[in-house]
Amino acid sequence: MASTVSSAARSSIVIASTLTRRSQFLHHHGYTRSSVSLLSHAMSSASSSSPVSSLSDVESLRRSRILSSKLYFDVPPSKVPLIYSSSYDIAFLGMENLRKQIQRNETDASQYCQDSVPQTIQNSIEATCDTHTEPIHLNLPISESSQFESSMSDLDKPIAHRKAEIAWSCHKRHPFDSSKWGRVCRFLILDGVLEKNRIVEPLEATENDLLVVNSESYLNSLKSSLNVSIIVEIPPVALLPNCLVQKKILYPFRKQVGGTILAAKLAKERGWAINVGGGFHHCCAQKGGGFCAYADISLCIHYSFTLLNISRVMIIDLDAHQGNGHEQDFSNDRRVYILDMYNPGIYPFDHEARRSIDQKVEVVSGTTTDDYLAKLDEALQVAEHTFDPELVVYNAGTDVLDGDPLGRLKISPEGVTSRDEKVFRFARERNIPLVMLTSGGYMKSSARVIADSIMNLSKKRLIDMEGSSGKI
Ligand SMILES: [Zn+2]
Repeated sequence: MASTVSSAARSSIVIASTLTRRSQFLHHHGYTRSSVSLLSHAMSSASSSSPVSSLSDVESLRRSRILSSKLYFDVPPSKVPLIYSSSYDIAFLGMENLRKQIQRNETDASQYCQDSVPQTIQNSIEATCDTHTEPIHLNLPISESSQFESSMSDLDKPIAHRKAEIAWSCHKRHPFDSSKWGRVCRFLILDGVLEKNRIVEPLEATENDLLVVNSESYLNSLKSSLNVSIIVEIPPVALLPNCLVQKKILYPFRKQVGGTILAAKLAKERGWAINVGGGFHHCCAQKGGGFCAYADISLCIHYSFTLLNISRVMIIDLDAHQGNGHEQDFSNDRRVYILDMYNPGIYPFDHEARRSIDQKVEVVSGTTTDDYLAKLDEALQVAEHTFDPELVVYNAGTDVLDGDPLGRLKISPEGVTSRDEKVFRFARERNIPLVMLTSGGYMKSSARVIADSIMNLSKKRLIDMEGSSGKI
């Protein structure tokens, strides 16, 4: 397939390979403290005619953005506080086929070659190559993977070689179910727990909404498909036209962000809300990573501060990975208490952000269900006696499941159900509004496990799927 790429196309891709990638990598991973990043964010967001010079200006700019947002809207009582849109589900122009190919060949990397890239992707790659006249600048945050770093450092190789490496890299990295969110809802509907017309559809977060947390320079960086490909860890995305990347990847993410933000309003009104999506806990104001392009958790919390009269929020992050995005964003903010239970032996290895965790619970690779749940019980008890939140944001990643290649823990499906029940009990029995986000976990079995857990919450009357409001 390499021969189908013209030499003209190859020569039209000029890679700024002389850039000092290593120093850029370090620069992008060198975290600034929260207040400093807020200030620089506001300065980059403000017009040059109105320079921002103090943190109070930052806060007033943030406040005015929130007040002009349309993401909070009135939801009729006939709806249940379960948020989802069919546009959450991501279609990668045949990437689903690529994913199946990846799963089939999981044990033999050598079987996977560029010929496995679906024709639709190859066509897009070639169309992109043919129209590329601009240099690609590598002004990037970079993947944690040394394998991917080495392929990135070889970007000045001929396109044919790069295609082969990209394909191999993809094989190794992303076996995921890109329609997980929709399948959760389908299971709930099929099992008679949820009626389709009672689901709440959120609005898309606009640029004005995203700027409440994410910096303008970061949002601009998403106009490069290469940057997005690194954030979502799917290398072939680098070769797609950015308009396609916006439509097929970033738009679904922005809808999910709208869902996370709206969830806090619904939780305040109804006691709980579940966004069947969101939980992008690796993205902070200045950078994305680990399949997280927007800082939805930080956004949700800032909206609740401004619009819901909330001043103390507890994040309970039980995704298998450390939630370094929100940790970075709230590093100096005592209004937010962070309980993070994560595997320290996997991505993101963010030691700087770990300092911002109020209660750190490390669960090593191979941890089994009983040990995991015992640690959670203990952690919730400590949290209860340490902080008095007015809102709980629960990041309920299912990559803790046994068999998940990224999480490397051994939690059974029943263990996930019990875990979710414990967190819901913690918040609901204390009348603390609770937002749940589904976050990571993209095995084919994840959707079924999430749906079963939601059904259990309903059965135990920790949530009311009939649509009536009220607290227990
Ligand atoms: Zn995760």
